[in-house]
Amino acid sequence: MPAKSPTPELPRVLVSRRGAERLKGGHVWIYRSDVISAEGIAPGSLVKVADERGKFLGTAFYSSASQIAIRLLSRQPVEDLDSLLRRRIQGAIAYRERVVRDTDAYRLIFSEADFLPGLIVDRYNDLLSLQVLTQAMDAQSVRATITSELNFLKPTGIVERVDPKIRELEQLPARSSGVLQGERTSTIFSMNGVKFHFDALEGQKTGAFLDQRENYAAAAQYAHGDALDVFCYQGGFALHLAQQCSKVTGVDSSRPALEVADRNAALNGREIEWIEANAFDLLRDYAAAGQQYDSIVLDPPAFAKSKKNLDTALRGYKELNLRALKMLRPGGILVTCSCSYHVSQADFLAVIAEAGQDVHRNLRILESRTQAKDHPIVLTVPETAYLKCVIVHVSH
Ligand code: SAH
Repeated sequence: MPAKSPTPELPRVLVSRRGAERLKGGHVWIYRSDVISAEGIAPGSLVKVADERGKFLGTAFYSSASQIAIRLLSRQPVEDLDSLLRRRIQGAIAYRERVVRDTDAYRLIFSEADFLPGLIVDRYNDLLSLQVLTQAMDAQSVRATITSELNFLKPTGIVERVDPKIRELEQLPARSSGVLQGERTSTIFSMNGVKFHFDALEGQKTGAFLDQRENYAAAAQYAHGDALDVFCYQGGFALHLAQQCSKVTGVDSSRPALEVADRNAALNGREIEWIEANAFDLLRDYAAAGQQYDSIVLDPPAFAKSKKNLDTALRGYKELNLRALKMLRPGGILVTCSCSYHVSQADFLAVIAEAGQDVHRNLRILESRTQAKDHPIVLTVPETAYLKCVIVHVSH
């Protein structure tokens, strides 16, 4: 057997006491302001992290550009990055095998939540869609390991989705979305018995909003009568509601999203009315006109992108929920969501409660939910928990 080559010494980053405390508390990020010395360390390097006194804290990916300078990979020394990445990918696959049901589309790797910071991989039936978020994950050798290990799943194709803003922030060279392996870039996937078209190179995020998968099924359990899906995108909620409701209308401001939504409805043999409109205007006009529904879904984009616009965001949520509650008949169901990490569950419930008071409705919570289990929440990394989905029973 050849002698094992000595492990090359990794560069070392020293962090402040506050940074060290953060890691000790179970978090995996250290901000640049808590980095004491990282001179001469190449962008995207694997580094050792140590406290002010030089005590080893773990092994991490270093970014020379992001405010998040350190993303912890392991609390142990890492001798072989390639095999660690492969083990983590297998771990992510095994986790999904245990917790994901009734779908061939789900998030396979969710960055920090799968101990693979900077990497997102979604599965859509036979296709994998990959997103690289950091300098370290962008390295050629790391990419090669990832795609090779993902082939364990025998996908017919692997596609990369590029967010140009993220590459710019990480000071990575521009790159376009495209096929990494295989030829096909579109497929049909299904969740909870509902079918969807998927085109890897179109649409928002990496395609569908997979994080709502379990909430779609929950919403369909309670929905009835006339339903309105506001911010419907490609029809995720609307198509599920159509399993129970007599009439479903979907609203979104994006025409391309509604075109896919319409093709999805046809694929499932459903008749759904799609309206291209600004949801705020439409809800105001419909509420003023006395329009009524039995079930309403609100799933707006993240209003609070940072802590700074929290107040504006809360006002936005209040307005939407107030108008929706006004239009719900007694016995009605409101499914209301927020995907802003900065809006806490408590803030969100308070806004819904206030809206209910303003329109004199009694609200009872049927379910207070979060993202689907393929988007795991790490208890000590609060940023991994972002989605709120509250299902409310509305009475007079
Ligand atoms: N409910 C969807 C996801 C919604 S994402 C699903 O489960 O798949 C948010 C959607 O809001 C996007 O489709 C976006 O086009 C739409 N949107 C953003 N601002 C809007 C506005 N002011 N009025 C209507 N739609 C809007």
